[in-house]
Amino acid sequence: MNDESKSLRKRKRFAARLKSSKGIVCTETPGKYLVLCNAGQATGLEKDYIFGLIQEKKLNIPLPKFITEKGESHSFLVFPTCDDCKIFYDTYNGKAKADENGTPLYMNFVETVPNTEVICQHENPKGLHLLNNFITTEDEKIFLKLFDWNPESNNLKNRLVRHYGYEFRYGSNDVDLNNPLIDKIPNECDILWKRLSELGYDVGVPDQLTVNKYQPGQGIPSHVDKHSPFEDTILSLSLGSDVVMDWKHHSGKYIPVLIPSRSLLVMQDEARYDWQHGIQPRTWDPVIENRSENGKNIKVITSDTKQRQTRISLTFRWTRSGPCQCKYKTLCDSVEKVSPDNLEDKLASNLEELHVHQVYEQIAGHFSTTRHKPWPKVVQFMEGVVSGSVVLDLGCGNGKNILRRNDIVQIAGERSSGLLAECKEHIRGISGADCVRLDLLNTTLREETADVVICIAVIHHFSSPARRLQSIATIYRLLRKGGRALITVWAKDQTKSNYLLKSKQDQLNETEPETQVTVGGVNLPVHENRTQFKHQDLLVPWKLRKVNENKLSSQPDNTLLRYYHVFEENELDELCKEANFTIEDSFYEEGNWCVVCKKK
Ligand SMILES: [Zn+2]
Ligand SMILES: [Zn+2]
Repeated sequence: MNDESKSLRKRKRFAARLKSSKGIVCTETPGKYLVLCNAGQATGLEKDYIFGLIQEKKLNIPLPKFITEKGESHSFLVFPTCDDCKIFYDTYNGKAKADENGTPLYMNFVETVPNTEVICQHENPKGLHLLNNFITTEDEKIFLKLFDWNPESNNLKNRLVRHYGYEFRYGSNDVDLNNPLIDKIPNECDILWKRLSELGYDVGVPDQLTVNKYQPGQGIPSHVDKHSPFEDTILSLSLGSDVVMDWKHHSGKYIPVLIPSRSLLVMQDEARYDWQHGIQPRTWDPVIENRSENGKNIKVITSDTKQRQTRISLTFRWTRSGPCQCKYKTLCDSVEKVSPDNLEDKLASNLEELHVHQVYEQIAGHFSTTRHKPWPKVVQFMEGVVSGSVVLDLGCGNGKNILRRNDIVQIAGERSSGLLAECKEHIRGISGADCVRLDLLNTTLREETADVVICIAVIHHFSSPARRLQSIATIYRLLRKGGRALITVWAKDQTKSNYLLKSKQDQLNETEPETQVTVGGVNLPVHENRTQFKHQDLLVPWKLRKVNENKLSSQPDNTLLRYYHVFEENELDELCKEANFTIEDSFYEEGNWCVVCKKK
């Protein structure tokens, strides 16, 4: 039998299986959907491999959306157009490798893909007004001609930028009112204010404009436009491409909003002051649909994707001076500054929502791939647990500290649902181990549940002394009398660990002011990775891994900021004592302070 008929037979057999198991029909008619018959999550296939194929041959097609399902040895690709899909199929069906043994990768066109639709529960932020078709395609052409420019002239990290009226200063995120630019906002923009006023928006004429050019794949990290330098209204006019903008609130709400080209986004009130917005660094966006269900309008994030084009955004602002007068305190830079030691509980919780929980949800997959091995000291402690014990792993992450022991009961608790999913995979097959979603400060577990608790690299994410103490008091409460806990936190002193990189430390420019972010009235410096900690409360950048498309390979990645309180020597010991623990052992290990303590 020749290769071709062998391939055909395999693909037909797979088609029959897929139809009976999933109800998904394979077809000979090319469309936008492909199934990879013999490569999926269970065979170790990764998205990057598929994307690598496309880049390697320089196929001039956009990257597809990749759909895998847990435990399946097939996967799906969704292309923006039938033509793109057919090019991929013709190039690689039976020709690319499905695994390391060189087995050919087989694929079929399919009529549908598994439904990965998500219904967005929340309404758009208050004060966010999206005016669709605000300008005509003719206007758009005029604006593009006016504002598009040669990419060589100017460069800001991962996008291109121009200013009118005043230069927007990245870093301090404000303008210098004493230094107006010669270039004012062009008169062509006057139609915008006229139309706005006709629609009842009495906002006047802005005096500052920043123009950004984004290539597909580029994004902007979540941020709030700094309050005090600008008035209540901020406008964003989109040209050239639709994009999905993510809105995040410190209450935990997360809302993707489709921003079509030629629309004007008006940000006021809550949307302007109390929400963060950002754009993910990717070449495509999910297709978002508004549907009506039982008379109610719902927003659905569909399985379909749409390729991004080059997008020009015009951000118009009204400059102002003096402190901001808004009533939203979490993200305001004008609230009275407080030391993190006096941080109110509500604001501390908001800070953790934005700079701990939401960050972990976003980085869960990548984080997990960088955290494989438990630390030797944790393994040693866990190996010493006597047979028959009940162990709680609080803040278990991807479950790397759960031992392959079947003679103890291990319950892993984690607040991030993304990490919890990773954990579920990790502990599969360990009898007596299970995981639950759990918030250390709001756990419903009853008292004295556990013989042993481990809490590894968790408590440094609580942003006030009261909350750190409360977390240790919770561990105390969950332990039975005589039970023991191992608690570790990141140490401020990193001189005896592998964390510091001398080259990084030497590069540090001591005279340059640190970048700071104000949350809940606390000024949080942004840490320079791999250098000595200069503060106890700070934001540590996490660089999102992304697919390097040829054009963008030299651009820096998108960065998320995680909050940490790094501990001084004895600080953890003191907290444990305050929670009534008896300290049995206390040591420094690879940049962490560790305490073994006992409930009397
Ligand atoms: Zn913004
Ligand atoms: Zn404010």
